[in-house]
Amino acid sequence: ATPMSVMVASGKGATFGVLFRDAEAIETMRKVDTLVTDKTGTLTEGRPRLQDVVALNGYDEADVLRLAASLERGSEHPLAAAITQGATERGAHPLAVADFEAIPGKGVAGRIDGQRVTLGNDALMSSLGIDIAASSAQAEELRAQGKTTMFVAVDGKLSGLVAVADPVKQTTPQAIAALHEAGLRIVMLTGDNETTANAVGAELGIDEVVAGVLPGQKAQTVRRLQAQGRFVAMAGDGINDSPALAQAQVGIAMGTGTDIAMESAGVTLIRGDLRGIVQARHLSRAAMRNMH
Ligand code: ADP
Ligand code: MG
Repeated sequence: ATPMSVMVASGKGATFGVLFRDAEAIETMRKVDTLVTDKTGTLTEGRPRLQDVVALNGYDEADVLRLAASLERGSEHPLAAAITQGATERGAHPLAVADFEAIPGKGVAGRIDGQRVTLGNDALMSSLGIDIAASSAQAEELRAQGKTTMFVAVDGKLSGLVAVADPVKQTTPQAIAALHEAGLRIVMLTGDNETTANAVGAELGIDEVVAGVLPGQKAQTVRRLQAQGRFVAMAGDGINDSPALAQAQVGIAMGTGTDIAMESAGVTLIRGDLRGIVQARHLSRAAMRNMH
């Protein structure tokens, strides 16, 4: 692209909330045939809200929520904010936590009143040898509603479930429709459970859902698609997403996300509106057309 067409694309991009890092980002965007996208904070608002609390094995709902919220006070995960806020709204008072530990992609743990309390996904429970079979039908029902469902265990025994839902951004369905219209294949990546991920994927008409991805594995999915000859843009917002953003031919960060994601990306969508990807493609094509 000529310096002039780069300037024009940059200027127009800015008016749509699309920031290109450099001329290369403008030039490459038009070649993208596959969008890999993180779910939480990218397709969704990333501000989940507490929906359900289920008590099991002699606990009551207030106990389950109090234990969960106490642990989550030590976590910076969006799920933690949903649980602590939901607990506050329901009048639950948190307890002191000792030996707090965050387990990335899995959950949180700590000691409350001398008991070992853990909160997280089924992978965390199974790694600790905690039997969750008794709750699997209930958990599956919540997940089929697109809710992220977490288990609470006390001293190795299941005591309840908490479920949160993260609303899809208002602009996401339109962005997906336009990207499909342009012929892109859309792949959603998430650390979330498969049932939850598939429910959200089906609602949005996503072409391929890759669930249960651990932080650090996202770049692998990008590489797999590249090995199949796809020209990949990766959209994400989190620290976990930055290796995948760097691996993709074009990294697309949400301006509403972490600084690290933005530093790894060629394109930033200032307001996190994915319709900016469609605009970025148009600008890229226009800039390259002006060359001739
Ligand atoms: P995503 O890729 O969707 O942003 P993560 O990789 O951060 O998700 O987490 C994957 C899963 O691990 C979550 O869906 C949740 O079940 C569990 N998990 C992670 N962090 C926490 C936490 N602080 N509290 C409870 N569960 C958590
Ligand atoms: Mg995210």
